Parts: sequence; structure tokens; C-alpha cells
Amino acid sequence: MERVTSHPASQGLFDRARQVSPGGVNSPVRAFRAVGGTPIFMRSGSGAWLTDVDGNRYVDLVGSWGPMLLGHAHPEVLAAVAEAVGRGTSFGTPSEPEVLLAEEIVGRTPVESVRLVSSGTEATMSAIRLARGFTGRDKIVKFAGCYHGHVDALLAEAGSGVVTLGLPETPGVPAHVTADTIVLPYNDRAAVEAAFEQYGDQIACLITEAAAGNMGVVPPEPGFNRFLAETCRKHGALFISDEVMTGFRVTRSGHWGLDGEPEGWRPDLLTFGKVMGGGFPAAAFGGRRDVMEQLAPVGPVYQAGTLSGNPIATTAGLTTLRLADTEAYARLDDASAQLQRLVAEALDAAGVTYALQSAGNMFSVFWGVDKPVTDFAGAQAQEAWRYRPFFHAMLDAGVYLPPSAYECWFVSAAHDSEALSRIAEALPAAARAAAQA
Ligand code: PMP
Repeated sequence: MERVTSHPASQGLFDRARQVSPGGVNSPVRAFRAVGGTPIFMRSGSGAWLTDVDGNRYVDLVGSWGPMLLGHAHPEVLAAVAEAVGRGTSFGTPSEPEVLLAEEIVGRTPVESVRLVSSGTEATMSAIRLARGFTGRDKIVKFAGCYHGHVDALLAEAGSGVVTLGLPETPGVPAHVTADTIVLPYNDRAAVEAAFEQYGDQIACLITEAAAGNMGVVPPEPGFNRFLAETCRKHGALFISDEVMTGFRVTRSGHWGLDGEPEGWRPDLLTFGKVMGGGFPAAAFGGRRDVMEQLAPVGPVYQAGTLSGNPIATTAGLTTLRLADTEAYARLDDASAQLQRLVAEALDAAGVTYALQSAGNMFSVFWGVDKPVTDFAGAQAQEAWRYRPFFHAMLDAGVYLPPSAYECWFVSAAHDSEALSRIAEALPAAARAAAQA
């Protein structure tokens, strides 16, 4: 097997990067703090593969953290982007690709009206402002372990107790900013009922990941999302389903179509990002028309962006979504199922205790747990240290995994038999390394 153990060019760039950027990175998890070692600087990607600045090749299971649904450098996406770039990069006016992308989103998802922004963080931040503006209420509910971007009010951690009024989890967020954030355990209906019992008439919205993917993959229990929507409705609060990760990935719309019977309920607002930008900064929030029309310029709730609906980003997103047809999702689902089987076989053979959890084609492994993980406390109880040697054994064998045990593994429609064979070859030794950790 090809070994990848030498990274002098990555090391050199990382040394330089640390001189000019905090931690040498522009987003913390990229720094490999959780797994140790030198972050790999990638130079190019093609299909399921990445090539680093030292010329090493890897099968990519990060997919830029979700956007690369079709794999890297899809020729039709590149051609559309090149053509769009030739016409200019930003106008600060309305442009046709924005309309086409909005129509595509409205056509695929339960939203009636959508506004484009540039990041998932912006989408959730704006959705929450809109919910507060629409309801005239201040409190928001979120779940421990659900990540919605680095929005101040959402960077609140759960403490003990059923209903926890949020405490900021990072310096720089004043306590009063999270004081209106109620943090509850995921999948816990009783906690949701208790919170709405106590604060129902003050709650503007509840936001949840459509399926939790940021504490590892923790699917909602059957009917949970519908229960949340109904509870919100009963109390006059809005239900925001964050589909930044799941949207256009787990089905052609997102997780909503997987939530059992979609008839009879839909989120009031949804947020999207990742896939819909095709690797460029594009995201969106949308939903009920009456709610969306509270936004400026129609309504009083302000929200704006210099590069919102950028013609290059919207062209890349639109082209990606148009290529993401039934056949592409079938390939993706199949590659994910095969990969999950390979991982389970290798971990079983090595005698590792684990829970492999999935939500549609998204999945992750919890190490050293022998029952399903249903919430953040369960996720944190895993033996995360087993991931470090596993990660490095896979990396050395040319497989690029997320550099943290708490992340989803992202497969693409370009993960073909060659990519899966590379992973299959790498897994047994990595599984043994995890077992011995
Ligand atoms: N919501 C969810 C569910 C996410 O997974 C993420 C990013 N991982 C975000 C919001 C934030 O998106 P961004 O990083 O584009 O700001």
C-alpha cells in the first residue's frame, strides 16, 4: 500500500501561517488540535481525491465539510463558474443566477420564499432575528451539541437540569446575549415540554439541526422534529430547521423528506448552506412567505449583504444542484452504505466497541460506546482518544478523515470503487490502532 508519511511542504506552510494567523488556520478544527500532527495543506482536488502540497493523494472524506456533494472540480461546475467569472465577479445589483438558484431552492424544499446570504452562520443568525422580529419575543431554544455557526446567542452550552438558561461558552459573548437562550438535551421531549410550559409565551423560536451532525451524527428519534414543530405552533413560536449540513445532501431537498410523513407539517423557517454554494460562500434562509415578508425591504426586520447572491457563488450552487439528480443521490447513498459496511467490518474484526450512526447518507463513528448515542452527553461519553491513532493510520494510508471524533464523515457522488478500495485497504490497520489505544 502507498504510504503518505512525509509532509515537508505542509509543515513549511503551517510554520509560516502561524506567524501571520492565529493557530495558522482560518477555522479552528483545521488545525488538527484534536488529533495532533501537522495540518495538511491541500493544493487540488478531483472527484473523490485531494492532492496536498507535497504531492500526496488522499481519498477525501471531509468534502470541504459538506459542500462537495459531486466531488471536487466537477467539470460542469468549473465550466459554469469560468463562464460566470468572465462576465464579472460581483455587481451589487440583482442578477439572474440569484433568481434561478432561489427558484431551485423553492422547487426542492418546503420554503416559499428565500433570502440568499454568504455563510451558514449568517443564515441562522438572520433566521433568529427574523423569528424574534416576527413574534416580538426574545427567548430562543436550542439543543446541546447542535451547532448553528458562531452566532453569539447560539454559542451557549447546556449545564445540568432540564431547562438551562444559557451560559456563554466562549469569552467575547456577554452573558446577557445568551441569557435568552434556553439549551435543552437533544431528543428529550419532556425537556422541551417543560421549557415551553415555563416560558412558552416568551419563546420566539426553537432551532434544531434537522439531524444533528455536529456532535457526530445523532439522528432525531422518529417523530421528534414533527413534535418540535407542533410544540412550537401550540405556543406561537417558530420552528427553525437548520439544514445547512443536511440540505440537498441526504435527499434532493434535505432531511425534511426523510422525517417520515412530510404531509401536515413543515418548518416555519429553514436554513441552508454548504451544498447550495457548490464550494463557494453561499447560504440561505427561507420559509413561510408571511414570515419572510417581515424582512426588509418589505417588512421592518433588517438584513443585508454586500456579496449576498454573488453571481459566481450562485452559479456554482445552481450548477451543483442541477447536477444533483436522482442518479447522483443513488450513487452517493450507495457509496455511503458500502463505506459504512467496510468500517463496521474493520472495527468488528479488530474488536473495537463502537456505535456507527447515520442520518440518511451522513454517518459517523462513536468510539467505545455500546448503545446508541441520542444526545450530547452520550456523544461526550465516547472514548474519543481512540480516534487519534485511527485518524493518523488512515491519513498515512491516504485517506483524509475529519480531524475530530465529533464530525460527520462526508461521502460524495464521486466516491467510486477505486476510492472505496483505497479506504478498504486502509481500514484494518487503523481499526487495530484504535483498538490498542
Ligand atoms: N449550521 C449547521 C448545521 C452547520 O453544520 C454549520 C457549519 N458546519 C453551520 C450552521 C454554520 O455554517 P458556516 O460554517 O457556513 O457559517
